[in-house]
Amino acid sequence: MNHTVTAASVLPFMLLGGCSTAPDRVPFTERTLEVAPAAYDLAIEVDFEETKIRGTGRLTVRNTSDRSVDRVPLLLYRMMRVSELTDLEGHPLRFTQQIFPFDDWEQLQVNYVDVEIASLDPGEEQTLAIRWEGYLHGYTEAMRYVRDHIDPMYTTVREETKSYPVVGYPSWQANALAGLPKFDAELRVTVPDSLVVANGGELLGVESASGKATYHYRSSRPSWRIDIAIAPYEIMERSGLKLFYFAEDRVGAETVAGGFLRAMDQYKEWFGPLHGFAGYAIIEVPTGYGSQADVSNILLQASVFQDPDDLTQLYHEASHLWNVELSERPSPRWDEGLAMFLQQLLVDVFAGNEALNAVEGLAGRIRSRLRTQFENEPRLSEIPPIEYGSEDVTDLSYRVGMLMFGALYHLIGQDGLNQLVGGFYQEHYAAGASTADFVARAKTVAPVDLDRFFEDWLYGTGYTRFLDSDLTLAQIANTYR
Ligand SMILES: [Zn+2]
Repeated sequence: MNHTVTAASVLPFMLLGGCSTAPDRVPFTERTLEVAPAAYDLAIEVDFEETKIRGTGRLTVRNTSDRSVDRVPLLLYRMMRVSELTDLEGHPLRFTQQIFPFDDWEQLQVNYVDVEIASLDPGEEQTLAIRWEGYLHGYTEAMRYVRDHIDPMYTTVREETKSYPVVGYPSWQANALAGLPKFDAELRVTVPDSLVVANGGELLGVESASGKATYHYRSSRPSWRIDIAIAPYEIMERSGLKLFYFAEDRVGAETVAGGFLRAMDQYKEWFGPLHGFAGYAIIEVPTGYGSQADVSNILLQASVFQDPDDLTQLYHEASHLWNVELSERPSPRWDEGLAMFLQQLLVDVFAGNEALNAVEGLAGRIRSRLRTQFENEPRLSEIPPIEYGSEDVTDLSYRVGMLMFGALYHLIGQDGLNQLVGGFYQEHYAAGASTADFVARAKTVAPVDLDRFFEDWLYGTGYTRFLDSDLTLAQIANTYR
């Protein structure tokens, strides 16, 4: 007999009693996520007439805790419902599903699915068979760039919308504390045959029948997210790079492909070879949907294709391939600051601009933005950057981190940066490492003592004294010599 008060058992009381206070359950934010996805094998059909997504398939979860578990928490898009859940033998599994806002992100409402499974020991895996369907109308109330909806011009299925079942609780913090999962994915996506399905995995085949096409992809590397993009794409292939682009942006696509390969060559020269690199896809998405990178693909906004002078987003995302997974939970995300710095550094290096005008230009814009931000919200200036993850202010990781790496560059030079970023990646790419490991390495490559530097820029907030000044990054660096 299970005495846990589930959301579903509470609901009738709320309706009958007109009770408006929160039911007596353990807040999601206080729960520990004890399972993680190990593999997905999904068949997804996009029905453009009914503007619906229908999915079916298998999800294998692993018990990542040190005790046995009998629940799998899943999240689905707020207008999607699970219609069937069974074990592999077809026996129905008991589950409840109900719309909840995230405990710590009120605007983000999800369908929370609580699945009962047979007891699963630590390290063991179990596969669920699941069927779900529903509508997709974005999450702009929570994330401005998540405009995802079902449209023949562009449709996406991605982690942000939970348009496939995502393992997690309706709590940003609970999910962040569990860290990013790593799973394999096999996908069969069915669309009208006038459209193309883009994905970063290996394309195993396309089957066409009665006006529909089914694209069969398998991930080439384990990843933490699934990205599927559907549009009337054209495709270009260059040296292991596959580019999915909109027909009107063909000229821009050439520039993007060239820019990406050039950036990859430069990073390779600086940081050494990438490991487990099995080709790469750049997938054009409409402007406003956000650019983002994964282990095998980049979603890149059309604005970059249309204004090829602005390849910084591409340089930014490409640099993430040389990142090491940080072991802090939640991550302080200073790797975003590194990416912001590297994206500008490439602009200057490719232009032969030794004064680093692109780097200084961004640093100046960031400083004035931080000044305004800290005036409006002084609390933010008191958070040491190492705590940006736990304080849930990783927007600042991009800005303060960029300034930190910009100043550090002047202290350690290009060779030092190569030994630091490249060495850190080459040693830890497989298992991950901590910020402390990174800082220790920085100290070994630097010709000056960096204690005060990291005290100001990472472990404390001494960096704020530079925000009001007009010092260049090189001048800031000089104060640490
Ligand atoms: Zn980034």
